[in-house]
Amino acid sequence: MSAAITTQPILPNSYVIRGGRVIDPGNRLDQSADVAVVDGRIHRIGRELTVDHPSIDATGLLVCPGLIDIHVHFREPGGEHKETIETGCASAAAGGFTTVACMPNTNPAIDSPTVLDLIREKSRRAGLCRVLPIAAATEARRGLKPVDMTALKGRGAVAFSDDGDGIEDDAVMLRALEQVAAVGSVFIQHCEFKSISAGGVVHHGRVAEALGVPGYDPRAESAMLERDIGLVRRTGARYHVAHVSAAESVELVRRAKSDGLPVTAEVCPHHLALTADACLEWGANAKMSPPLRDAADVRACIDGLCDGAIDCIVTDHAPHTVDEKARGMRDAPCGIVGLETALAIVSDTLIQPQRLDWPAVIALFTTAPARVLGIAGGNLGVGQPADIVLVDPSMTWRIDVSRFASKCRNTPFDGWNVTGRPIVTILDGRLTYVAPGVTQRLETAAR
Ligand SMILES: [Zn+2]
Repeated sequence: MSAAITTQPILPNSYVIRGGRVIDPGNRLDQSADVAVVDGRIHRIGRELTVDHPSIDATGLLVCPGLIDIHVHFREPGGEHKETIETGCASAAAGGFTTVACMPNTNPAIDSPTVLDLIREKSRRAGLCRVLPIAAATEARRGLKPVDMTALKGRGAVAFSDDGDGIEDDAVMLRALEQVAAVGSVFIQHCEFKSISAGGVVHHGRVAEALGVPGYDPRAESAMLERDIGLVRRTGARYHVAHVSAAESVELVRRAKSDGLPVTAEVCPHHLALTADACLEWGANAKMSPPLRDAADVRACIDGLCDGAIDCIVTDHAPHTVDEKARGMRDAPCGIVGLETALAIVSDTLIQPQRLDWPAVIALFTTAPARVLGIAGGNLGVGQPADIVLVDPSMTWRIDVSRFASKCRNTPFDGWNVTGRPIVTILDGRLTYVAPGVTQRLETAAR
């Protein structure tokens, strides 16, 4: 079921993307302009550039920095039947992403220089997306002994997390945050006290009862977050909450920020677009951790994005095979693939109902995640690597899992009609993705 990675047309060394609406939140730019790319870097941006280079026709398109997703699961090493770094990167490119940060719940976990080196080498060879590894915060993600963060940061780890398993033990968490503060990195917590979530399969209440499965209490998330905020207060460590799902958590982050604490948060498109009711319709393809919650939680997450309590949007791209998801609600693994649907789902959920506009949404996918991790990129500054996505904001299309570049198909969004699509993705000036039917826009430039 692995999708073949199609070879893309090749762009020349110098070209101009002409006539698009350039949205570059990092440089406060939102205007009709041309973007000249030379030797893989942004060369110039301006109205009707007269440079004599082949051109890409971007009329009617948004020209944006390549998107950044700081929460993906690429499964390699150890889970290559679900996704490899290469197929994950192809999926990222198809979703308009040029940079992703991958979570360490691989097998073995990303807790050693060896695994960090492997990820760097595999992603370099794939050449489709920048892959920044997030290292485990504790050895083998067991929550017992913090890793040597200095060594792993030196080898390329951009943050530390035991994602999938929040660190339960107070003393271990305190030591981990002290190290994060000392090395100047970021701690990312999957907030869940497992004694409170207690094997919950879906959000507690009506849907859990209807399905006859244990309910998942949102206080599993907010209680750990509250404990962690107390430890952040004591250590000053940079702390980022993964995939916020509950109204109470959003409020805790809002208050931590107003107290001046270095706390940030992310939310996933599915927690903005769906409630627990989705589990009744799509079964295990709507089973996530944290679970889809109720309408008040969805509203709180959207409000949090709009007022800045939540910093950025991530996919939590979590490939699982059809067989794994067919084990039924109780036994199927959690998560959905998200890279190839993220922008369209956010467009439908936030832009079409006029909660946010395109520049705000592009910021949530570019400058905001770059700021959370303190990484370069996410803007179209002159001299920056030419990581660019062209988005057709009015293209209506049907999500079709059979066309995914990801190895997996686990999503409740299959068959949805959505508006807005990344149609060309460029990394270091090279094409990494062209949507079906748009190659004519490249004809004067590509060969
Ligand atoms: Zn998680």
